Amino acid sequence: MTKHGAGVLYVVATPIGNLEDLSPRAQRVMAAVQLIAAEDTRHTRALLAHFGLRTPLLALHDHNEAECTPRVLARLLAGESVALVSDAGTPLISDPGFNLVRAARTTGVTVSPIPGPSALIAALSVSGLPTERFVFEGFLPTRSAARRARLTELAAEARTLVFYEAVHRVQESLADMAQTLGAERAAVIARELTKVHETVSSGTLSELATRLAADAAAPKGEAVVLVAGAVQAQSRGADIEAQRVLRILLAELPVKQAAELAARIGGGRKNRLYATALEIAGRK
Ligand code: SAM
Repeated sequence: MTKHGAGVLYVVATPIGNLEDLSPRAQRVMAAVQLIAAEDTRHTRALLAHFGLRTPLLALHDHNEAECTPRVLARLLAGESVALVSDAGTPLISDPGFNLVRAARTTGVTVSPIPGPSALIAALSVSGLPTERFVFEGFLPTRSAARRARLTELAAEARTLVFYEAVHRVQESLADMAQTLGAERAAVIARELTKVHETVSSGTLSELATRLAADAAAPKGEAVVLVAGAVQAQSRGADIEAQRVLRILLAELPVKQAAELAARIGGGRKNRLYATALEIAGRK
């Protein structure tokens, strides 16, 4: 039940790079509220200045959220409305705000989302990896032993895995992923999304690790790492094996016979193998 006379806590998504991604509704709400609780007030002040807004700011970050929450809650209960923002993307998604949102909801204050950018969804939407089911893992542990232990727990996960990673740790993490999840797993690195140097690279984990090492001089940026789920990885492995068999058979046999024989050897679907055989034969 909504608390009578209380204000509204708006959870406002802000750009992950391109300022044009701040929605008109987000701008309107940030102009209208009495207070903006921001992860970094300097960062948000610059955003507000860009849009000509002068709403008062209050710092609410990982280190002061516990003590700040009762103060913000008191203002909400007194009838003021508050916008919660983080430095980039959607608050609470690997960002501060959980305590405040939970306290507001528990107290009966209305919490309303102003949806918009999030690196997780932006990266997933362009990755080309299956999106109907996925697991958001946020940041992996920073120490390699703990990171590898977590990755090992995830090795059999069938859904697409999505990780956030700090700029300077992408390379080490990729190496650990290749080791624990398999060097041949399909993966994607989405960097600097919505910014000038936006890049989305696909390949196996080992290909991406090699490419990144060779590209050491290139400007580094924030990245989302996405990895195909285990079953998808297995079926990719099966595809690679079927292609290997087809290549051998096609050296001796016509396409139709090669596909039939490959289906008998590997148990794959004849139609699919025939299509792959045609593709391979065409490439020769
Ligand atoms: N709350 C944010 C969101 O909704 O996306 C995420 C905040 S988290 C502290 C920061 C991480 O998000 C970065 O380390 C990176 O993994 C990812 N990220 C943020 N902006 C990005 C961008 N423009 N391109 C790629 N990844 C980004």
